[in-house]
Formats: sequence, structure tokens, C-alpha cells
Amino acid sequence: MLSRVVLSAVLLSLALTGCAKPPSPNPTFTQVADRAAITNNIFKVSAPMLDQPMPERIFATGNIGGRTLAVATTTDIILRPGEVVLTFDDGPRPHKTERILATLNDFGAKATFLMLGSAAQAHPKLAQTVAASGHTVGSHTFDHTDLSTLTSQAALDEIARGERAVQTALAGGGQTMAPFFRFPYLSQTGFLRTNLLQGNMVVLDVDIDSKDYYKDTPEVVVARTIVKLEARGSGVILFHDIHQRTVDMLPLFLAELKDKGYSVVRLVPKDTSIFGRDMITADAPLLRGTL
Ligand SMILES: [Zn+2]
Repeated sequence: MLSRVVLSAVLLSLALTGCAKPPSPNPTFTQVADRAAITNNIFKVSAPMLDQPMPERIFATGNIGGRTLAVATTTDIILRPGEVVLTFDDGPRPHKTERILATLNDFGAKATFLMLGSAAQAHPKLAQTVAASGHTVGSHTFDHTDLSTLTSQAALDEIARGERAVQTALAGGGQTMAPFFRFPYLSQTGFLRTNLLQGNMVVLDVDIDSKDYYKDTPEVVVARTIVKLEARGSGVILFHDIHQRTVDMLPLFLAELKDKGYSVVRLVPKDTSIFGRDMITADAPLLRGTL
């Protein structure tokens, strides 16, 4: 009877500790860890963490953060040779966006995240974490609709709905959204572009599409993006913080940027109080009617 209880305890401890890390080579320590797992609610035992060495860095990190560029209009985004802007669309996405943030932090780089209203609404804390980490947050419609397939009014509604949702998510953390927008699928119409620009919206175009949505290996995505960048010498690069391959490729990509001497320019709105601005109050009568 006693032995069965002991066996059960051992099996339980194995179940609790076995899946998250490899077996400990130190039997004494394993016992401590097992006891900690079983009595987790009673004792605070920090010792078990000691037998997990810090993961080795595979890539040499370093600060590749460049200058900060204050942007009021789309035409303000003029990069010098060797400068890139990193943009991440479609998030925030739990378990992926956090990893992207950690990698960017390792390299001292600040990016712009063009969030979907629906995703920001679903994960407001994560949206706030992005902004609180010093990155710029803009919008990318609510539902990632191809705006060129909608009527002009419906397209403007979709843009405004996305903006409101991202802004509401950030407001919960006392943060504001940048008036930066990217067209889903990069699919735009002249009417929409003109309307946005007249509303002092900064339309973020793409110079280099990493095509990280293709089912390639992270190495292939890195190589493809570097080739395009080297051919151009600078540019706004499109990534997505919703794909695991993007999470996986980013350390390698940023290490390549570092090796090749590129710097990452941080885009910020020239007027941080601009939200709630003319897009709602002037110059955009169609939008005003929808808000
Ligand atoms: Zn997108």
C-alpha cells in the first residue's frame, strides 16, 4: 500500500516535471525539483531553476538601432543608404509577438506594428506591451479585408473600425496609436489613398516584402529578404508577427543586418497627439459620417 502511494507520487512528479525540460543529470536535484512540483502551493522553492542553464545564444546580438524619424506624412519617410524600417503586420498574436519583441530588444531595434483591430481587441494587453516596449503601433483595418473589393464607404468604415479598435486597446494602457496605416494585401485604390493622406494618415508602403507568409524555411526567408535589401540598399521591410517562421528567422535576419552594417530606423509620429484628429474632425467628410 505504502509503495503504491510512493509510486504514484513519483509518477505524478514525473508528469509534472518531465514534459517541460529534459531529465536532470543530478539525482539529488531531481528529488528537490519533484518535491517542489508536488508541494508547489505550500513552499516557494526557487532552487529547481538552477539546474536549467541559460540557453546559449546562437547569434551574436548587438545594438543596430538607428535614428528616430518623426513622420507627419508618407513623404517624410526618406531613408539613407544602409537604413531599414522594420514593420510587422496582422498581430498582435500571443506567443509570437512576445518573441518578436524579445528579439528586437536583443538587437536594440524598434519596429512599427500595424495591428488588426480584431487582434488588438482580442489581445489588448499584448498590444499595450508592444507600445510599452517603445515600438510604434499603427493599424491595418479591423478584419484584414481587401479594401479594393468594397465600396468606398464600406472601405472607409473598415479602416475607421480598425483604428478605433487598436486605439481602444492601447488606451487601456494609457497609450496612443500612431496615425500609421497599411493596406491589407497592399491593395489600395486612388480614392482611399487620397482620402487617408488628406486625413493626415501616414500610409506605410512596402519596399521589401519578405514574403514570410510563404511556407519556406526561416533561412530561405532571411536569404530572400537580404538579397532584396542588398539590391536596394535601404527600405521599409514587411514582416508578420503571426508566423512561427518569422519568430524563428528574426534573430538570424537581424544578425545579418548587423554584420552588413545596416541600422534600423525607428518611425514615430511627428505629433503624438494627432489621434482623434482631422480624420474625424475635418477633411474627411465620409469618415466623419461613420464615426
Ligand atoms: Zn496584413
